Amino acid sequence: MTSPVPHTPHDTLIDPFGRHVSYIRLSVTDRCDFRCVYCMSEDMHFLPKQDLLSLEELDRLCSAFISRGVNKLRITGGEPLVRRDIMTLFQKLSRHLQAGNLQELTLTTNGSQLARHAQALADCGVKRINVSLDTLNPDLFRTITRWGDFDKVMAGIDAAQKAGLAVKINAVALKGVNEDEIIPMVDWAHGRGMDITFIEVMPMGDIEAERFDQYWPLTQVKTRLAERFTLQDVQDRTAGPARYMRVKETGGRIGFITPLTHNFCESCNRVRVTCTGTLYMCLGQEDAVDLRTPLRASPDNAALYHAIDQAILRKPKGHDFIIDRGAPRMAVGRHMSVTGG
Ligand code: SAM
Ligand code: SF4
Repeated sequence: MTSPVPHTPHDTLIDPFGRHVSYIRLSVTDRCDFRCVYCMSEDMHFLPKQDLLSLEELDRLCSAFISRGVNKLRITGGEPLVRRDIMTLFQKLSRHLQAGNLQELTLTTNGSQLARHAQALADCGVKRINVSLDTLNPDLFRTITRWGDFDKVMAGIDAAQKAGLAVKINAVALKGVNEDEIIPMVDWAHGRGMDITFIEVMPMGDIEAERFDQYWPLTQVKTRLAERFTLQDVQDRTAGPARYMRVKETGGRIGFITPLTHNFCESCNRVRVTCTGTLYMCLGQEDAVDLRTPLRASPDNAALYHAIDQAILRKPKGHDFIIDRGAPRMAVGRHMSVTGG
């Protein structure tokens, strides 16, 4: 075993392609109160609870990344708001916002538990959240999520806006399922002052159904949107994978996340950590590094920093997602709920 390389705490994380890793997505649980048809099978097996990092350990892990230059943190899952006492993690992490070491603390949620947590999130310094919603039709919502309660999600969005949180809607484009929903969803989201982003389905994990049957390329979604709206290019690029267009008629923005038809891996600034402390350097690759062992080995962070550094050196150039008839059903075996979206 190589011995840990000494660090100054302010060394930033640069991968072999010169990309600065400044953004962590932390999945705090792989469990969920929904079973969305593109994300999970109905009969899911989850990570054993005893393998999970405690909330204190998650805080220590995030803090270690923050001391290495990470300035944006998104809490995700599974459904992050079903993890017991999750608000204590937000409360702990908010000290980094107050100290100015963290620019943004955000959340991706299905909205089911949002009504009871929205105000507390805002109190912790969360300014923006993403809520996943693929339809405005309650029956179709039930079909897509299998277990979800549409009214609860709507109440969650209401509460979030009331608490002053900026809400962005994320919708997965599903062939033959929510095709007629996209225009009403844009009207609805923009009418409430929310951006909306469409996402191409990614071949992650066994979900029983065929990916090819779900996959609706966003090139086609854009064509459909352009029949009704005037889409204008937006210059301000974020480092993320979404590319935005403004709708002239509503003034709101539509994002497009196109890992299949056009990937933006060259500007990728993020890595993903699971609730068991496994670091995935790319959403679409299997390579991963265990951070739980060095985290637990010592209260000192030297071994942890060393493991993080070695991992960042292995960050691949990009993913190899393909959805095609005849292509392998899964690019990676794990479900999206393990690493978060
Ligand atoms: N449960 C939360 C939620 O649904 O927002 C957070 C985790 S969920 C895995 C994060 C995002 O990933 C959601 O927007 C969801 O729609 C998306 N997602 C899940 N599986 C996907 C897949 N196979 N392809 C594309 N997006 C997926
Ligand atoms: Fe749960 Fe989110 Fe996956 Fe739906 S997309 S099953 S809400 S983790």
